Amino acid sequence: MEQLELKALNGRYAKPDEVISYAVENLGVSKIALASSLSIEDQVLTHMLLQVDPGARIFVIDTGRHFQKTYDLMEQTMLRYKFNYEVYAPESKDIEELVSRLGPNFFYESVELRKKCCDIRKVKPLKRVLSTVDGWICGLRREQSPTRQDMEIFEWDEGNSIYKINPIVHWSEEEVWAYIKANDIPYSHLYSTGFRSIGCQPCTRAVQPGQDVRSGRWWWEDPDKKECGLHLGGHAPA
Ligand code: SF4
Repeated sequence: MEQLELKALNGRYAKPDEVISYAVENLGVSKIALASSLSIEDQVLTHMLLQVDPGARIFVIDTGRHFQKTYDLMEQTMLRYKFNYEVYAPESKDIEELVSRLGPNFFYESVELRKKCCDIRKVKPLKRVLSTVDGWICGLRREQSPTRQDMEIFEWDEGNSIYKINPIVHWSEEEVWAYIKANDIPYSHLYSTGFRSIGCQPCTRAVQPGQDVRSGRWWWEDPDKKECGLHLGGHAPA
């Protein structure tokens, strides 16, 4: 999967299961991993990836601030598909230092402090897992956010120097739900109470019908700029 071939690959593959098969075959199953936040998109990809290879790597960044329902869904998904997630956690000394100094809810105080929390709880653990792979699979979709409009299926992740594969980047939310229902895939009960994107409990809330999918994430910030840092550095703009 040479970098120069990305454009051709994006023209050749559109079916998510074919994208995943191609990526696993070409990178090797131990050198590619799915990043799961237990969202409906990641549940779809978990289902597809484990059909391609039951031994595929799926990881969760356990920030320590997830909803209990997210942990419940992790367990349910593990039982359903008979696999174990790779779990990556923040460095305890980072958390101890920051929370001792600023208190448990400092991330509401400014964008800088919020990004600092995301950096310690999400980005640093992510860097550790990404250092073990040549490519990662993500459930990003273009319609989720203005920051995701230009994303492609196959991308080169400049920041991490690995491939980034977004098999359902072109799917609508309706297509995701249709796949979930058709395949009886477990999903978070948070969606039944108005949530449309799943993140850390203190930074995620339900949204009203018609509102932007990600408007419930860091709702106090400028919608054109908010990203947690996990998806910066690829071909897509931040
Ligand atoms: Fe911290 Fe909120 Fe980012 Fe989670 S989403 S890492 S709680 S700032």
